[in-house]
Amino acid sequence: MKKFLSAAVSAFMFLCMLAVPACSASDRKVEIPPENTEKVTIPEAGCTIDFPVKKPYEYQMDLVLDTEAQTVGGHVVIEFYNDSTDPWNELCLRDYPSLFDKADVYASKEKSGGGITEINNVKDSRGGSLEVERDQDDVSVIWLKLKKPLKPGSVMKLTYDFVTKIPNNADRFGLANNIYNVTNFYPILAEYVDGKWSHAKYFVVGECFYSEISNYKVRLTVPDDYKVASSGERVLSSPKDGKLTYKFEAACVRDFVFCASKSFANEQRNCDGVIVNLFYNKENPPEKDMSTVSDVAFASAENSLKAFGEAFGKYPYKELDIVITPNAAGGMEYPNLVLIADYVCHSNIKMYEDFDQLDAVLCHEIAHQWFMGIVGSNSGIEPWLDESLASYAEIVYYEYLGGEKEKNHKYGLSKNEHSITKNWNDKDKLDAAFSEFADDMSYTRLIYSEGKAVLYQMEEILGREKFHGIIRGYVKRNAFKNASTKDFLKALYDCAGNDNEELNEMVGKVFRTKI
Ligand SMILES: [Zn+2]
Repeated sequence: MKKFLSAAVSAFMFLCMLAVPACSASDRKVEIPPENTEKVTIPEAGCTIDFPVKKPYEYQMDLVLDTEAQTVGGHVVIEFYNDSTDPWNELCLRDYPSLFDKADVYASKEKSGGGITEINNVKDSRGGSLEVERDQDDVSVIWLKLKKPLKPGSVMKLTYDFVTKIPNNADRFGLANNIYNVTNFYPILAEYVDGKWSHAKYFVVGECFYSEISNYKVRLTVPDDYKVASSGERVLSSPKDGKLTYKFEAACVRDFVFCASKSFANEQRNCDGVIVNLFYNKENPPEKDMSTVSDVAFASAENSLKAFGEAFGKYPYKELDIVITPNAAGGMEYPNLVLIADYVCHSNIKMYEDFDQLDAVLCHEIAHQWFMGIVGSNSGIEPWLDESLASYAEIVYYEYLGGEKEKNHKYGLSKNEHSITKNWNDKDKLDAAFSEFADDMSYTRLIYSEGKAVLYQMEEILGREKFHGIIRGYVKRNAFKNASTKDFLKALYDCAGNDNEELNEMVGKVFRTKI
């Protein structure tokens, strides 16, 4: 999620990015695992990011959005395998909508209508029904005790039916301004890491989401006057008896989300080879004349896809949807879909020029397609991995645009203006979990503002081309996997070596993770 920051960011002229010369393993003095001792090559600028050969998990969902009952539900089949070295005696699912039974997770004042998700007919394909057991400390955590353990490498299908209430909530999960934001809405398999199921607590200002790359095949039935934005691509829509059934396919994504409204206007443009769809409420739009908003949004998408494609590797999906909708934090990222708050779409919400905050929020959320989408991470436990990198990507974006925009947005980030090494409070660690921060403000300051400055100063120390190459290497190496701080530092030191004292001093101060 993007916190709406007023911190100005500063600038360098955009340089054409070239492939960074490979650095050999002998450059390193730091301890690294044996599998990475081969020669490290840096992917070329603008390289492709290929889908994995190995079959990912698969979700098949047959869903209905019931706008009279204000619910979403249906039948789900998850086919997955045990990707750990431990036998699994139980499974863990995350059911975030059940948190909306209580008032403390709502972002908006108009709140009502949430509830505990009904989950029924839970079955293991290897035989037997499974009981749903909710965690006593966290209603969003569901435990399923398996009657027969799932051995490492073994495959099973889990099936269940569910119905969840969609609350009145002007945020990422809820109905507001006649738009259903239907995200994190079905029970999803949690991640099993280091011998246990990961289930970080939900929080309103950021994310705790953490899941496995999967292929999604989704049938979604809505009233026939509704338009739908979603992850993946629409492959079919067929009307029947006042209903419209869409068929969506989303390959290699961590989640499937959709937004639906009978008031949606939809515009489509090709941006750097990607089909970009823009949705907004045409009956109650943020601006009377939406043509400038559309132009700004599509230009931002085009420039983001170009800048990030060059710096981090090409966007590997065919489509990207932008949905202008109520959203408390300004923006929110999902696979192939970003939510942009209607309040940032006003011309007078600006720092330097009309609509520049719409541009800033959009480029940040689109950057998450790389840092959250392509490279996943545990966003509740190591939030810097997606938020600091997406915040740094704003700099990459403004460097790409150049000129005044670049100067304005990079102000104050340079090590000559704000030295991380000199000014860092040793108690702060960038790789801290959300739960370690005293409050939302200190979380936002460190993870967004300081995290951005840390990464920008790495760029200054190593040079832009080399640093972009290192991040590209990190993305390529961890594409469609979940990465950790260790993976980032490995990618950094594999190329930078450990003899750069300026870099070492900063990394030593900022991170607690050692490699
Ligand atoms: Zn963000």
